[in-house]
Amino acid sequence: MNYDLQPPASHFVDGEYVEDTEGTPLPVIHPATGKTIATLHEATPAIIDRALDAARRAQVQWAAMTGAARGRVLRCAADIIRDRNHALSVLETWDTGKPLQETLVADAASAADALEYFGGLAGTLTGEHVQLGENWGYTVREPLGVCVGIGAWNYPSQIIAWKSAPALACGNAMVFKPSETTPLSSLRIAEILTEAGAPAGLINVVQGAGSVGHALVTDPRVDKVSLTGSVGTGRKVYAAAAEGIRNVTMELGGKSPLIVFDDADLDNAVGGAIMGNFYSTGQICSNGTRVFVQKGLKQAFLDRLAERLKGVVMGDPLDEATNFGPMVSERQREIVLSYIAKGRAEGARLITGGQAVDRDGFFIEPTVLADVTDDMTIAREEIFGPVLSVLDFETEDEVIARANDTEMGLSAGVFTRDLARAHRVIGKVKAGTCYVNSYNDAPVELPFGGSKLSGVGRENSKAAIEHYSQLKSVFVRMTDVDAPF
Ligand code: NDP
Repeated sequence: MNYDLQPPASHFVDGEYVEDTEGTPLPVIHPATGKTIATLHEATPAIIDRALDAARRAQVQWAAMTGAARGRVLRCAADIIRDRNHALSVLETWDTGKPLQETLVADAASAADALEYFGGLAGTLTGEHVQLGENWGYTVREPLGVCVGIGAWNYPSQIIAWKSAPALACGNAMVFKPSETTPLSSLRIAEILTEAGAPAGLINVVQGAGSVGHALVTDPRVDKVSLTGSVGTGRKVYAAAAEGIRNVTMELGGKSPLIVFDDADLDNAVGGAIMGNFYSTGQICSNGTRVFVQKGLKQAFLDRLAERLKGVVMGDPLDEATNFGPMVSERQREIVLSYIAKGRAEGARLITGGQAVDRDGFFIEPTVLADVTDDMTIAREEIFGPVLSVLDFETEDEVIARANDTEMGLSAGVFTRDLARAHRVIGKVKAGTCYVNSYNDAPVELPFGGSKLSGVGRENSKAAIEHYSQLKSVFVRMTDVDAPF
């Protein structure tokens, strides 16, 4: 199966593709060529209205089904996604510019994992019985209602699934707005869920920029908002959601430390740094962009890293031999280049890369900067591109203090052969998602999310259920009521 790059219409609402050409045109640009591959339209107020009404209606019908029946729909969608993995991955590559080598294993596949996992959990969601002497109580786990999901542009299929799978498992409906930069694949995921048996209106996708997101977040029909985006957008969306005291999940940015001790396995540490800085051309929130390397290993680390970077194959992302794609947009490339320039101006030493690549599309060289210090802009702000900063350190206490000296707390990693030290260090770093002798694994069975400015709530695992459901407590008196008069 192949998907046309131009979808049947811009939005997926109430179980079907719908168009409203009154909306501002949204060109979809292929990052590897800079050429327009499709044109969609931003959702008008009429589209948003229809999506929210449909979601409200479908949610009631969906919540009345048994959890097992809901789960069957999610697992069926997971199977369809796996069957169509190749076509969905090709579409994701056109949309995001990420190499097909990656999208074949990391995008639709991750969406299927989430739908399968939460499909399995759906039938197990229960409350509890509480005996209170002769009286007793019980709790009921109820859905929240209509959830709004808003996504970033780096993992569009994964983001819609990571939000929709737990939401739907708990009996909620979803209205999802993908990033205007990468709007294509979430339409297909919504279509597949409907094909798998989700009632019309249970999952809707509306296109548009921040203003469409804002309209959704502030609508009285909405009960929950889940955002994946930057800290700046998170502040705005969290504040807007607070007006209506809505539940939120915030998956925001990071400036995460990856700590490499002298005794680390050199190749594994370098491999971890590559996975934590260059996969998806560095456009990953949890990246370990501050690579602290203990002084004794520094030169060997830099030498080995430079050697391994010779394995970069930059080129047409649709060619499966390519392992390094372009940035998602010209704008993002400019942002990254300006950070590299700032880093060099502030004293960082360029080891490799640093330039835009002279070819069509938004390519940039994988870049390594050494002698980076804690006060440099590149060590403090999220870059969201293929820029690895190496910082030197000498002692464990020193590196823990410096690793924690950031407002963000999404991830952290440590490479060492001393497992006691590994767990001691991880115990002291302030981050939600941590790695020992690895980096950037995100299995659906483990909670994912950040502390400090990096977020609120957790995605994946049983922990996500808490964020897409609420408990009703019921007290049942078996004895007479003891009233004062
Ligand atoms: P943005 O914060 O720019 O945008 C995120 C989404 O929010 C987009 O769909 C955007 O719309 C929308 N949006 C923007 N303004 C508003 C508003 N006022 N109200 C409602 N919605 C709004 O992030 P990017 O798309 O640039 O993605 C990169 C960021 O996402 C990085 O900071 C990265 O760390 C973070 N991220 C976090 C992850 C996590 O799980 N913790 C995972 C992946 C990325 P549009 O862009 O279409 O205008």
